[in-house]
Amino acid sequence: MYSCSDHKSCLSDALHVADKICQKKGLRFTSLRKIILEMIWSNHEPSKAYDILDKLKDVNLSAKPPTVYRTLDFLLENGLIHKLNSLNAYIGCSHPLEHNECFFLFCQECKEIKECCNKELAKAINQTASNNKFQPMNITLEIQGECQECTDKARL
Ligand SMILES: [Zn+2]
Ligand SMILES: [Zn+2]
Ligand SMILES: [Zn+2]
Repeated sequence: MYSCSDHKSCLSDALHVADKICQKKGLRFTSLRKIILEMIWSNHEPSKAYDILDKLKDVNLSAKPPTVYRTLDFLLENGLIHKLNSLNAYIGCSHPLEHNECFFLFCQECKEIKECCNKELAKAINQTASNNKFQPMNITLEIQGECQECTDKARL
């Protein structure tokens, strides 16, 4: 779906932005944080915590699960990744800290995820919440379906 023409630059941009954010906030972008973010960004598909643990073993970095979860929490708190609750998986944020509301289009065919923003949708959610005297804290909308590329492929 994503058809990013140059994934190397997706990856290096993501790491560059993460580095900048950590510097600005006075946080340490440790090598484990960097490696895990890199693993999540290795593609546009969701990553599960146990896949990350496996990959760490592959590169001979035996981090214990609590350490990995703490690192994932760090990346989440700083807006560098998102958690997709329905999949219990993580995805790199394509524009960290520019938004609080994210909408994810998840292609069930190619398993790729695209992050979208829509102010109108965010407004509607906030309006609905306030009509119900409800304070939303974490809005993550996941929309499952099929991307154009996969639909086209299926037609061939
Ligand atoms: Zn890419
Ligand atoms: Zn995001
Ligand atoms: Zn697709």
